[in-house]
Amino acid sequence: LMQLSVPLNFIGFVYREIRQGLTDIEEMFALLEVQAEVVDSPDAKALAIGQGAIAFKDVRFSYDPARPILKGVSFEVPAGKTVAIVGPSGAGKSTISRLLYRFYDIQGGSITIDGQDVREITQKSLRSAIGMVPQDTVLFNDTVAYNIRYGRPGASETEVQKAAEIAQIDRFIKQLPEGYETKVGERGLKLSGGEKQRVAIARTILKAPPILILDEATSALDTTTEHEIQSALDQVSKNRTTLVIAHRLSTVINADEIIVLRHGEIAERGTHTALLEENGLYASMWNRQREAVQAEEQLRRVRESD
Ligand code: ADP
Ligand code: MG
Repeated sequence: LMQLSVPLNFIGFVYREIRQGLTDIEEMFALLEVQAEVVDSPDAKALAIGQGAIAFKDVRFSYDPARPILKGVSFEVPAGKTVAIVGPSGAGKSTISRLLYRFYDIQGGSITIDGQDVREITQKSLRSAIGMVPQDTVLFNDTVAYNIRYGRPGASETEVQKAAEIAQIDRFIKQLPEGYETKVGERGLKLSGGEKQRVAIARTILKAPPILILDEATSALDTTTEHEIQSALDQVSKNRTTLVIAHRLSTVINADEIIVLRHGEIAERGTHTALLEENGLYASMWNRQREAVQAEEQLRRVRESD
């Protein structure tokens, strides 16, 4: 019995340790799961990155063979330009960003960066060329400084701070109990969605990747926060090949091209002005959002006059 009680105690100890580390383990599994989907081809080469021009050619993809998600999508993001993808929820917008990052392999067509198929280059070199600001940032259970520096582990304190300034989060960090050394994440100080997103933006600014993917948050941020995030995003996408998935159309007015995705197909494409003139799906989405914004403003004015 003595022999048995030791291992049982030990199991109890391991169990408690595991429970405490649960959030990290969940994150790890989440990472492992997506990375297990694809493997480097035996003769994969490192991406020879130039200006970071992206091309999707007749891309077909489904998570489940019975349900096609992208049904032949073609578009280009010329080097240094910004292309926005808009469209109803479930259209396949985030899927496009996952495919560029090669979380999954496509079933038809090709995705290239500077002419190199993403299936023929190492995942490591691919992912180091791309900075992704996701819809939902998960922070590490570590300091704010660590979370920002993760973008470029060798960065100095000054560089970390500069990135935070550009991301409009520096002032917020400085008034935290321990400033940049404040612990954040599930087991530390919980940040709001907008604050987490700006930490992710600072991290990406530090990484300074040639290619940027922005999946804007859907969650209703207040106007000030949205404004701050928008100017942070504008800063980071300047002169970088940028693919932006936009939920708020007000943020894509200046995109070089806007692609309207519907049911996994490109329904419309063009500049903001051209799409408004077309008076189709984009125009109706635009009008609907404008009405919503106007209603919101009216409500605020009524409240303020009370
Ligand atoms: P969007 O970003 O335009 O809202 P997504 O690209 O996230 O849409 O998703 C497109 C479709 O694919 C949706 O119907 C969604 O339910 C489905 N989908 C997304 N991720 C997965 C997944 N991992 N497995 C199965 N289906 C998925
Ligand atoms: Mg999405």
